[in-house]
Amino acid sequence: MLAWSDPVTYIHGLTAQQRRVLKQLEVGTVGDLLSILPRRYDDYSNLVKIAYLPIGEPVTLKVKIKQLKKMPSFRRRFVMVRGLLEDETGAISATWFNQPWMLEQLKPGDEIYISGAARRHPRYGLGFVSPLWEPANAETLAAGNIAPVYPLVGQVTQKTLRKIMKAAVEDLSEVTDPMPSEILEKEKLPTLIEALRLVHRPETNEAAELGRHRFVFDEVLYYQLALRLARNLADRGGAPTIKFDETFAKSFVSQLPFELTPDQKRGAWAAFQDMEQGRPMRRLLQGDVGSGKTVVAAFCAAMVYRSGLSTAFMAPTDILAKQHALTLQRFFKKHNIPILLITSSTRYISEGGEETKLTVQEAKDRLAVGRIVAVGTHALLEREQCPSDLALAIVDEQHRFGVAQREALTVLERPDKMVPHLLSMTATPIPRSLTLTLLGDLDVSIIRTKPAGRLPITTRILVGDVGRNLAYQAIKEAISRHEQAFIVCPLIDPSDKLGSKSVEEEIVRLRSGPLKGVKLLALHGKMSAADKDQAMNDFKDKKADVLIATTVVEVGVDIPNATVMLIESAERFGLAQLHQLRGRIGRSDKPCTCYLTATDEDADISRLRVLERTNDGFVVAEEDLKIRGSGNLLGFEQSGKGIFKYARPDDIAIMSQARDTASQILKDDPLLQAHISLRERAEQIRETAHGE
Ligand code: ADP
Ligand code: MG
Repeated sequence: MLAWSDPVTYIHGLTAQQRRVLKQLEVGTVGDLLSILPRRYDDYSNLVKIAYLPIGEPVTLKVKIKQLKKMPSFRRRFVMVRGLLEDETGAISATWFNQPWMLEQLKPGDEIYISGAARRHPRYGLGFVSPLWEPANAETLAAGNIAPVYPLVGQVTQKTLRKIMKAAVEDLSEVTDPMPSEILEKEKLPTLIEALRLVHRPETNEAAELGRHRFVFDEVLYYQLALRLARNLADRGGAPTIKFDETFAKSFVSQLPFELTPDQKRGAWAAFQDMEQGRPMRRLLQGDVGSGKTVVAAFCAAMVYRSGLSTAFMAPTDILAKQHALTLQRFFKKHNIPILLITSSTRYISEGGEETKLTVQEAKDRLAVGRIVAVGTHALLEREQCPSDLALAIVDEQHRFGVAQREALTVLERPDKMVPHLLSMTATPIPRSLTLTLLGDLDVSIIRTKPAGRLPITTRILVGDVGRNLAYQAIKEAISRHEQAFIVCPLIDPSDKLGSKSVEEEIVRLRSGPLKGVKLLALHGKMSAADKDQAMNDFKDKKADVLIATTVVEVGVDIPNATVMLIESAERFGLAQLHQLRGRIGRSDKPCTCYLTATDEDADISRLRVLERTNDGFVVAEEDLKIRGSGNLLGFEQSGKGIFKYARPDDIAIMSQARDTASQILKDDPLLQAHISLRERAEQIRETAHGE
């Protein structure tokens, strides 16, 4: 009998090899193991005879081995085993790769089950390639069943993992279910132990789905409870009241280098109204790249300064933080609002038109004094780095930070237990269907229309070297007009995580040919912060014509003089990411072009066409969601970094069920004092958020 919290080594009858597999999976307890849910199922419950074999559908056959032998393979790396298999209705062939041990385990005359989908091969005719096989005289894992397909890591095979999971789930007897039984009954959901049996050993596809439903429901419910519990706690703490000063607002607006668009005004006004309440603002400013979110944030920070308090303005990268500091200096000059920049490489204060470098201690001392706008990366999130009188936290490009950091912010307490207002900004247009689930605790302002006078970016998909030469031509023409260009390279190989190799090799290639004589500059993740800065500044100062970069330029960088962008291997990027990238150009009144090239000639570039058709980020996002279905958009990632492990973007119905349940629970019990087990789960989410 196994309990949820038992170590995995307690699972009955583990072989040495299975123990090694468990090590690779890095799971400690039986619960950890069983929390790895199948990604999908293969339906092998369909037992058929060879004569009636459907093509391309997953089936199981019971066959006798007539012949089994090792074949010479063209590519020497592979060991290929071919079998001739028969039943009373006919014969069929099967091929396996890299399973030489089959020859030791099986011999002609043996009966086996094979599971898989038959395909017609141009050379070998109808047959199976690498079907699952199991001896017919033992209990089967796949044959005749709905077989779970687990996410695999390292050397772990599907077969071994299925065996371990089966042993664990069948032996499991004790699981404490954190969900109160009234909720399960009301929502018609299985208990946790039932759900585990359903997902790991389903008898039908519907049963598997019901089990998965429970996991998605739990996950979304806990997430919602965590967000709203934090909000309820924050509301209790209260927030500093920022009085709206109309005269000051008018004077601020009148000295800006441009007129605010109606959407920008609406966004700022909504924030001012929020901040006048004693309740902490939680507002998200959504607007496509280049829509002008920064000035709205600057306006809010200015109002906070006016009322005698501090703002922390946080960007995802050092480069962006520095850029924001410069932008704010421009907006704040007339009102002489002091800005303190804190990054890993520099610290300075800008006051009265002068910049003064500071030591770590001096910066800290200045923060302690208060009434300042502090700009920096998320290092600012750390308590000591926050101004003592912090009234407003601005988080730029929050999709980079993830909701985790946002969550950390909402509980960031000042010594007087008050909670700062929060304005977060994102260029990721979140499809409406998901907004409530992901941002249930936020009020949203949208900047839809871009500043007037912007020309749309022309996007062109190019094919092959002929196409690429067109782009080089366009780059050279732009340079002759004293404009600049970006070339974005993808990472060449997995070992090149920071892209230095891609960028360096591309520069060498371009220098020796296509862009001979052009001044090129590199920017990639392996460079030190100081070198990155230097490169950005040099590019801004027009010391180079073309910046060759990895996706570090994706977020926020503002170089209005750059009018051409070439994105290499565009097929490797998501649509939303390409849209972000091309947003680096089109920031002035000059016509701009973004070229997308596919490196892999066979790549499917048709999905990229939407970028040629529209410049609207919301349209691109909806399209991305449609194409990828359950892609890694926003919080939905397989990698474990996302918010949700189980929920997929199309689980809208379950999400709203969980959301409604969260509302009902919190209505009568806002701090979850009567729901201890749920509160514990919600707090676990918050703790992992803090740990990041
Ligand atoms: P994003 O929303 O992508 O952060 P930014 O705030 O960086 O966009 O603004 C993009 C550019 O548009 C900046 O150069 C900014 O000065 C300019 N801008 C912002 N608002 C306006 C406006 N109302 N009229 C003209 N230009 C504007
Ligand atoms: Mg921005």
